[in-house]
Amino acid sequence: MAQLYAQVILPLSLHDAYTYKVPASLESTVVPGKRVIVQFGARKLYAALVSSLSSTKPDNVEEIKEIQEVLDEHPVVLPRNFQLWHWMAQYYCCTLGDVFRAALPTGLKLESKTKVFLTGSEEEVALSETESLMLREIENETNILADLQRKLGTSFSYSTLKALMNKNLVYAEEKISRKYRPRTEAFVKLNSSISSEKELSEKLALLKRAKKQEALLHHFCDLLRVFEPDALPEISKKELLQGTSFTPALVKGLAEKHILVDYQKQVSRLDEEQIEQVSINMLNKYQAKALEEIKHEFETQQVVLIHGITASGKTEIYIHLIDEILKLGKQALYLVPEIALTTQIIQRLKNVFGHKVGIYHSKLNSQERVEIWEKTLHFAEKPDEGYQVILGARSGVFLPFSDLGLIIVDEEHENSFKQFDPAPRYNARDMAVVMGYQNQAKVVLGSATPSYESYHNAITKKYGLVNLTKRHSEMELPEIVVADMKRAYKRKEMHSVLTPQLFELVESALENKEQVILFQNRRGYSPYVECFSCGNIPKCERCDVSLTYHKYKMRLTCHYCGFSYQLPERCDECGSPEIKTRGFGTEKIEDEIKQLFRNARIDRMDLDTTQTKNAFEKIVGKLEKRKTDILIGTQMVTKGLDFDHVSVVGILNADNLINFPDFRAHERAFQLISQVAGRAGRKHKRGKVVIQTTQPEHPLIDLISRQDFKQAMKLQFEERQLFKYPPFYRLIKIVVKHKNLETVDRVAKHLADLLRKNRSLVILGPEFPMISRIQLWHHKEIWIKIDRKLPLDQVKSGIMEAVKAVKSAPSNSNSQINIDVDPF
Ligand code: ADP
Ligand code: ZN
Ligand code: ZN
Repeated sequence: MAQLYAQVILPLSLHDAYTYKVPASLESTVVPGKRVIVQFGARKLYAALVSSLSSTKPDNVEEIKEIQEVLDEHPVVLPRNFQLWHWMAQYYCCTLGDVFRAALPTGLKLESKTKVFLTGSEEEVALSETESLMLREIENETNILADLQRKLGTSFSYSTLKALMNKNLVYAEEKISRKYRPRTEAFVKLNSSISSEKELSEKLALLKRAKKQEALLHHFCDLLRVFEPDALPEISKKELLQGTSFTPALVKGLAEKHILVDYQKQVSRLDEEQIEQVSINMLNKYQAKALEEIKHEFETQQVVLIHGITASGKTEIYIHLIDEILKLGKQALYLVPEIALTTQIIQRLKNVFGHKVGIYHSKLNSQERVEIWEKTLHFAEKPDEGYQVILGARSGVFLPFSDLGLIIVDEEHENSFKQFDPAPRYNARDMAVVMGYQNQAKVVLGSATPSYESYHNAITKKYGLVNLTKRHSEMELPEIVVADMKRAYKRKEMHSVLTPQLFELVESALENKEQVILFQNRRGYSPYVECFSCGNIPKCERCDVSLTYHKYKMRLTCHYCGFSYQLPERCDECGSPEIKTRGFGTEKIEDEIKQLFRNARIDRMDLDTTQTKNAFEKIVGKLEKRKTDILIGTQMVTKGLDFDHVSVVGILNADNLINFPDFRAHERAFQLISQVAGRAGRKHKRGKVVIQTTQPEHPLIDLISRQDFKQAMKLQFEERQLFKYPPFYRLIKIVVKHKNLETVDRVAKHLADLLRKNRSLVILGPEFPMISRIQLWHHKEIWIKIDRKLPLDQVKSGIMEAVKAVKSAPSNSNSQINIDVDPF
């Protein structure tokens, strides 16, 4: 028989698939989409993915190794996933291996350096000899797969490991971050020796003198309807004893008499909360009209952009769309910028769709992610156990949907859909559109402040466009007041960080028992500190940034690399004790506001206060329950939160938003301020927003205060057309990094020279970016502007070739070159 070859994708930055021989014994089991164990390099083993099979030996390969094991019974990746992966690698100028690494959850990405741990499950399961051998080694703290393999020798196999993982005894993790303990709960079932009603009555008769045990057994049989046609197999001990006077000791007694079995069972961590099923809200007339329009657009368009103002009820429309897709038996993917910040949406979806909903994001541990991966995959065969709706962060685009009908991208303008590092540097919003075409699934992009790219696609009829201009409560959008900080400073009218206008509004909101949100886009106490005598500003040793002072920890900290030290008592340069804090971070704002409003209950939401698990939910919960009067926060407060009683929102300093040196600065400032403003006056009373700035005459400030999205965009479009920026030109950013300054200069120049050979491209740089050194690596950037008429694939392969040529020069080998397509 002809030798069969498999092309496999390895989880390494390699451009091509690699070919391995399929041993005759595995011919029937090796199929595309399954993982196989292969050796790559001297001794390293990897779980690779079979992408295709062929019977022709590839040319110019001398020695072809054999596949060692097949890990999966069923493919874990579908042909459609591969299709998307290929598209991604091509479009984002990265390797298939990069995509593979981003796509699969760690639990499915085994390799020699993977670490495995015990879950601590107490469930009793039968183990084979090799399984118990391996389990014992792991118990003895042999955690790295390579070591495990060395110790077990021929008894080691990945299949054994996988069996242990399937039995929930072992899990894999890339690094030991937090100890994972599965949630277990006590369950009770009937002993398997009792298999008929008759046997049960015999047992009951034996209990005549143990009245309480007898009563409990009756209670148990009633609850489970034992031996009735729809009998339940088991019940949680908690549920069994709930609302009764029975004690756990009675259960134990019955277990000792071999009537009941009392055991620990692992329960899914994914749906911990009680889900109360509620019905779908009726749409109001504007929403109903928008829904009709969306469906109408779908007749001719794959993608529809919904431009709906804040609190217009876009979520409700999404829910209706999802509901309709589910009724067709298809799956839906609902992408949100940051899962951690969307507790309210999670709750809403779970209430409506119950256990059909899975939540997927990178903060789940590996076992949870594998569970969701599999439940998404299995929807086709086991609709009752699989997930039909996935609420996900950007990595949701990788899930193996078998029958996707709808993708929703909420807050589509958000930059957290973009992965910055590592490759693939993809934008999940754009991936969603591609997936839509590949799966014949409809795509809805939604936002109160659409990205200019998407809006441009809508007005050029690439996407459908639907507007929603009324809030659900029919409440008007908040009134926006511009407060001149410069004038207030001059007249000595500032109340600490508040202009008189904002101060008065906060005061009266507090009097009326209404809530206030204050937005400042800097965390920490002060963005930098300065010596009063010599002007020295402490900087990071490893990065080109000043250190932020965190008062609570009394430390100076680098927000780029985490480097941090105790605030010195004296200036490092001149020894003066007078070190002053400069500028305002949220921590300092909190201090100042506490001084101003001594009776107010003040809370803060930023990266520092939301580190611990559930911290974010707690802050949101306190605000919802009106236990917080004033919330101070960074960007986090902008993200889709829905509070009923916030009447005043203050933007403490709009200057640094509008003056940011980036071609998207104005677009972003408009988005950010409108989104924060949208938190005000959503239900009961029209809200007020104060924008504090020293540039009240800035045209953008005027446009924002009138919420004139279209005019702001029009002005920007003129500029972007003139200066060749998106959406009119395509943009690729190349970052060259090296620890040595001269080398980074030389390599970047070499690359730019090569790129300039293509005369049709506009090439800027190399230049130092605003922060030119991060973690000891110097950075230089080259920006490429590409006319939309040029053949993109050809341009990209030219760029890749230039990068390859520069990288392969021996003296450049230690430099890093990253390509970022559609940078943010
Ligand atoms: P958006 O996402 O457009 O900012 P939301 O979907 O969060 O708006 O809706 C704002 C508020 O109005 C939410 O509290 C939501 O529950 C409520 N709401 C919107 N539409 C309806 C509806 N048709 N029926 C009941 N409540 C609604
Ligand atoms: Zn000094
Ligand atoms: Zn640093």
